[in-house]
Amino acid sequence: MKKVVYRGIRDISVVDAPEVNPGRGEVKIKIKYCGICGSDLHEYLHGPFPESPFGHEACGEIVALGEGVTDFIIGERVCSVIPGSFAEFINCPVERVLKIPADMDWKRAAVVEPLSGAAYALDKAQIKGNEAVLIAGCGTVGLMILLGLKATGVKNIYMSDLLDYRRDKAMQLGATLTWNPLEIKTSTKIKELTGGKGVDMAIEAVGIEATLKDCLSSVKFGGKVIVQGIFTERALVHMLGFVTRETTMIGTNSINPQLALAWIETGKIQPERVVTNIIPLEKIKEEGFEVLAGKSTKDIKILVAPFGA
Ligand SMILES: [Zn+2]
Repeated sequence: MKKVVYRGIRDISVVDAPEVNPGRGEVKIKIKYCGICGSDLHEYLHGPFPESPFGHEACGEIVALGEGVTDFIIGERVCSVIPGSFAEFINCPVERVLKIPADMDWKRAAVVEPLSGAAYALDKAQIKGNEAVLIAGCGTVGLMILLGLKATGVKNIYMSDLLDYRRDKAMQLGATLTWNPLEIKTSTKIKELTGGKGVDMAIEAVGIEATLKDCLSSVKFGGKVIVQGIFTERALVHMLGFVTRETTMIGTNSINPQLALAWIETGKIQPERVVTNIIPLEKIKEEGFEVLAGKSTKDIKILVAPFGA
């Protein structure tokens, strides 16, 4: 079978590897799609994480059961969250396999994991429908948070991003208002929109100092800042405002698939709309990582399809 090996910065390749039977407590999945995550791009450009999650947003069909597996059947559609899934097949322990409805669209299944990250973050934040929210960043992380807020019934959702096409996507998916933070100062705009008060909650969905500062300076007294962006550099922030405004800052990096599936069931959101391209496994470097690393003018979520779209 074919699979992608990560060797180091900007160094990945597709190799032939033997197909292995699933071990005890594992299922073997024939992968339909594996999405390229922001964390994958981060590793591609800056080097591996201590526990590399490279290639973890997969969905596919179960083709073999390991010993002791009783609650899955062959042919069942699932999502799996295990590194190494830029491949034709993956053996995955059952605790990292998620059952999805049999009629779920594959593109939708492919984004259940990123949506689950938003679900975990918003569950931790305990947002209420009447609150106002700033999301700094309109990439996959920001857009998934937006969809989660829509599913929760939140109405005032403001978003910032440097790129026009990403802001357009945010508006299409139901953002209240978006702007370019280089043209409009985010904290000033937020004060204007909230009668001088600030938003109840701000979500950092980029992973850079500028957006973290925008979030910290845009929340109300006693407000919450959720940090979900992956930071490469240190961020220097002025802590006086943080203290005097009694801000709560929460970092999140886990998933809540049950809540994500419940959001999808409401019928209010179509998370697959963040998918902008589907590429063959062989083209993962040129049409996937290098495109995302460069100046793409349209891409948000790219899916890798080992057996074709
Ligand atoms: Zn991910």
